[in-house]
Amino acid sequence: MNCLRKITNTLKPSKLNLRSFSVTSQLKKDDSATTHLPLSMLSEDEIMMKETVARLAKEQIGPYVKEMEEEGKFKKPVLDLLFSNGLMGVEIPIEYNGSGCNFMTTIQVIEELSKVDPAVAVLVDIQNTLVNAVIMKLGTKEQKEKYLPQLATGMASSFALSETSSGTDAFALKTIAKKDGSDYILNGSKMWISNSDVAGLFLVMANANPSEGYRGITCFLVERDTPGFTVAKPEKKLGICASGTCMLNFDNVRVPESAILGEFGKGYKYAAGFLNEGRIGIAAQQLGIAQGCLDATIPYTLERQQFGTPIYNFQGMQHQIAQISTQIEAARLLIYNAARLVEQKQPFTKQAAMAKYFSAEVAQQTTIKCIDWMGGVGFTKDFPQEKFYRDCKVGSIYEGTYNIQLTTIAKHLKNEYNN
Ligand SMILES: Cc1cc2nc3c(=O)[nH]c(=O)nc-3n(C[C@H](O)[C@H](O)[C@H](O)COP(=O)(O)OP(=O)(O)OC[C@H]3O[C@@H](n4cnc5c(N)ncnc54)[C@H](O)[C@@H]3O)c2cc1C
Repeated sequence: MNCLRKITNTLKPSKLNLRSFSVTSQLKKDDSATTHLPLSMLSEDEIMMKETVARLAKEQIGPYVKEMEEEGKFKKPVLDLLFSNGLMGVEIPIEYNGSGCNFMTTIQVIEELSKVDPAVAVLVDIQNTLVNAVIMKLGTKEQKEKYLPQLATGMASSFALSETSSGTDAFALKTIAKKDGSDYILNGSKMWISNSDVAGLFLVMANANPSEGYRGITCFLVERDTPGFTVAKPEKKLGICASGTCMLNFDNVRVPESAILGEFGKGYKYAAGFLNEGRIGIAAQQLGIAQGCLDATIPYTLERQQFGTPIYNFQGMQHQIAQISTQIEAARLLIYNAARLVEQKQPFTKQAAMAKYFSAEVAQQTTIKCIDWMGGVGFTKDFPQEKFYRDCKVGSIYEGTYNIQLTTIAKHLKNEYNN
């Protein structure tokens, strides 16, 4: 498998002490060998990518995290290294200049980046699990040839569904695409669009046949420099501050019919379907936050002394740490299982919803506990715990709120019990 070709060009993998991942590889390169093995065992390529990205994140992204958070934007060297190491096109085939890896590898990449900067992770997540995935699966030959090489090597992208009046009720969107000759003219606006400050390509859901209700929703590929299309200033947010979340405006934006991605009127289906995969990516972001926060905290509890002994030695501390570690492991297994289901082309909607709901909860509980275990210093900006605490909050909001994941799970359960 050549999936590591790109990343190892610039950074040689080294053995890292990944506390979150204690199982060493005994798997052969053939991915199918993973079918009946423990979920926590990865293929050699997956482990190599995990370790390499962990090192890349720590050594080459870590030094920029504070500055990016304060400035509310990504630094160019960070964007450049994501592209040059193949992390923006993890599953894009090699013939399109991508890394040619599998979905589990994308999940490993998001998890490892999140341990260092969850804002960088959401950029990589949306590019890989939403935009690249949709173009790879639905794009025409021309669309793939035009966009996939750019997405793999230098062009960031955004997925634009939400609007001011349609969040959870996403398909009540009001952005309109009106046919004009062989073109479509887009009017309306989008809200909360991640990474739109740096994106060059936008997947935009617009209604091209409002009389058919949500069955008119169609997916359009809109390039940043299209006349009439503007991106507003990033919102000021609680967390993931380096990831620019902006409003988009469409004022008579003319695009050719060839900008339609997939079939006319199937946008609602695509958005619902691909967001299921995207949710596993967000779950991996939350897992990375929880593990990264724990990894930054345990050494402190082993060093910090009170009553003449390290605070880790108190049974009250040990029990809490054990509980949180167990929850992180449970989240990991839910996520890896959902990812393997995707790879095996099995149904995974319920498992993806469970993984996202649970990992967002675990990330919140973990970051709160880690701040408690650090005492006063955990409340300061000198340590990473407070940033992890803020960054994880959005995990129960975007790509389907906490309630919506539970609704999805309950819907599936009802069907299972009724059948
Ligand atoms: C930082 C950030 C980045 C984002 N990035 C993107 C992006 O890149 N692209 C994009 O398209 N969108 C993006 N979003 C939008 C995000 O997906 C929405 O915020 C989310 O879907 C919730 O919509 P809303 O904010 O309108 O909340 P609402 O839909 O108004 O929900 C408010 C509350 O009501 C509850 N609620 C609503 N309906 C129901 C129901 N039927 N049953 C039970 N409870 C319900 C919700 O669970 C929530 O608690 C982003 C949002 C944020 C904050």
